[in-house]
Amino acid sequence: MKIFVSSDMEGTCGITAWCETDKGKDLYDHFRAQMSAECAAACRGAIEAGAEDVLVKDAHDSARNIDPNVLPEQARIFRGWGRTPLSMMAGIDESFGGVFFTGYHSAAEMDTNPLSHTMNTQNNFVKLNDELCPELMINSLIASYYRVPVYLLTGDKGLCDWMNAHCPGTVTVPVNEGRGAGCISIHPSVAVERIHNAARECLEKGREECLFPMPSSFKAEISFKEHFKAEGARWYPGCVKTGARTVRYESRDYMDILKFFYWVL
Ligand SMILES: [Zn+2]
Repeated sequence: MKIFVSSDMEGTCGITAWCETDKGKDLYDHFRAQMSAECAAACRGAIEAGAEDVLVKDAHDSARNIDPNVLPEQARIFRGWGRTPLSMMAGIDESFGGVFFTGYHSAAEMDTNPLSHTMNTQNNFVKLNDELCPELMINSLIASYYRVPVYLLTGDKGLCDWMNAHCPGTVTVPVNEGRGAGCISIHPSVAVERIHNAARECLEKGREECLFPMPSSFKAEISFKEHFKAEGARWYPGCVKTGARTVRYESRDYMDILKFFYWVL
């Protein structure tokens, strides 16, 4: 079995401030090492459970955060951006048997992570079919588009709760609990151990129960922080400006929604 691992940073154990996610800034090196350790733990668990091939997508900011040296030797890593609508999932296709997400975070407008956002910090919220849409939703639907189940999610507790409600088969490992502009986290070593154990055990779950539900049609809405972003967005073919800061785009094909997000969000 081939496993695809998409790793972000704002749901890494203990991370609390934007500077900690930024190369060269306060504590970035610590959290880069922790992000790498959590991703590596997920890869090790998958390999111990029988995965022959693991492809890691570094999916934060520069997409050049994870230290490849700490990954198991069976793992490959996609560093940098493919510049396609697959974005944080670049490299996935139908040949994969499962997806893991590590270091993922709550969506813009969720109060469960001090670093809550959706794709960037220029929007108030992104909605899909009338509900708040975390990056996890965008990317779980990409997995479903290729008929690949999502077996593991690690990140903040708010996002884990969201996933438990939307795709109960997926195993979740909460490592942080947002409290206003702060968060309460477990010990970094305990996080790594729990992720390792969960990654080893989650592949025993049924494939069907871990397939994220795919709607038959899609309505995407974005509320931008700045009104002029909505003015620019309405020039995207099919995009409707619905207010000073808001736009809407609809399609029955999820790839159209991904293209819309890629060019407009
Ligand atoms: Zn990130």
